[in-house]
Amino acid sequence: MTTFADLHLAEPLLRALDEEGYATPTPIQAGAIPYLLEGRDLLGLAQTGTGKTAAFALPILDRLFREKGRAHPKGARALVLAPTRELASQIGESFASYARHMRFSHAVVFGGVGQGRQIEALRRGVDVLVAAPGRLLDLMGQGHVDLSGLEVLVLDEADRMLDMGFVRDIRKIVAALPTDRQTLLFSATMPKTISDLAHGLLRDPATVQVTPPSSTVDRIRQAVMFVDTGNKREALKLLVDSPKVERAVVFTLMKHEANKVAAFLSEHGITAEAIHGNKSQGARERAMSGFRSGNVKVLVATDIAARGIDVDDVTHVFNYDLPNVPESYVHRIGRTARAGREGWAVSLCDAEQRAWLRDIEKNIGKKIPVVSEHPYHSEAAENSTMRPPVLGGGGRGRGGGGGRSGGGRPGGGGRPAGGGRPPGGGRGGRPGGGGRSGGAGRRAV
Ligand code: AMP
Repeated sequence: MTTFADLHLAEPLLRALDEEGYATPTPIQAGAIPYLLEGRDLLGLAQTGTGKTAAFALPILDRLFREKGRAHPKGARALVLAPTRELASQIGESFASYARHMRFSHAVVFGGVGQGRQIEALRRGVDVLVAAPGRLLDLMGQGHVDLSGLEVLVLDEADRMLDMGFVRDIRKIVAALPTDRQTLLFSATMPKTISDLAHGLLRDPATVQVTPPSSTVDRIRQAVMFVDTGNKREALKLLVDSPKVERAVVFTLMKHEANKVAAFLSEHGITAEAIHGNKSQGARERAMSGFRSGNVKVLVATDIAARGIDVDDVTHVFNYDLPNVPESYVHRIGRTARAGREGWAVSLCDAEQRAWLRDIEKNIGKKIPVVSEHPYHSEAAENSTMRPPVLGGGGRGRGGGGGRSGGGRPGGGGRPAGGGRPPGGGRGGRPGGGGRSGGAGRRAV
């Protein structure tokens, strides 16, 4: 089996990978890195969750390490274009993490926030610039960015960037880049628009394709339950109360909701702690160690806080709220079924978040089985065509009203076989006359 050392990556990178706990390269990494270290252009067909970020970040960092040099003012040596602010931020964090033992600078730019700090970060030039296309083009137009010295260009999730209407922005950006550069294009799918784009941008590219999704995700049994917003807590309690749930992570979108859910479970005799960005480091560590030791059964977390959760025997992940970014779904459910174990991922979906579920299903390429035999089943949620809520600070694309979701077709479409009982051993009857209240309770987010 190939190791990272076999790939001849620079020593500081090997050390960082070791510290990250990456034992062996994933297939996209093993396939792509040798070509990239040779300086070849690359067409990578890989979804998120395959390790594609490291597949391009490591060879770029290897090059920066070996070919010392500096970007000129307002410039960058490598540019990564990504469709959303979330993905751009994650890519920036991955670079910083792999580059922790070398001299390295980077900046991340995206819309929806002020420009000042981004301009300042770019002023002296950076090794790597990660950018959403719209904001980058704005900054270029204002003379804050000069990419004439660029060495490597990466288009990440190119199919999503095209879906989101960024093709013209991308072409304008590329027109300002030197032609003598290395170009990498990653896409989960290969429609004609992508092959046309690839054909125009890549020179004699190597192609590496990996089969999605990761084996971990295959081991996770997934289900969705449609419920009205006002019934989510009770539905969650019903699920979490099962003895089959040994250790669970519950995801909410908002910090205050995480607090409320943890308090609600605690009031009902289920040990639960919330972790999110507003908690002190000490409080987070206490919650994590309680969770690890088994004193705390349920950890209620927001996406950002959950990055640090590396506990092997999480038996269940519950999405109290669906994530508004489809990729987060795979990251979230990957908290269970670790180290070869099995796991359950159950999502509660209300009318408002119905459109997000459609996006998630599109992203993972399959329908999530619906479980409807439970006391809180809501047909209104299942059939909802409501636009999803607009979350603060949206930027371009998702959540800002311009995303791909919204609208939607009525009826949801094909429910896979095998509805059945609530996963985790739900109880039969309907408690306390709780009903299928039709109305889709709207909630201020
Ligand atoms: P990505 O497809 O880039 O979003 O990566 C998915 C996840 O896999 C991230 O959480 C990475 O930290 C992790 N990852 C990437 N490469 C490896 C590896 N070789 N071994 C273990 N985990 C990895």
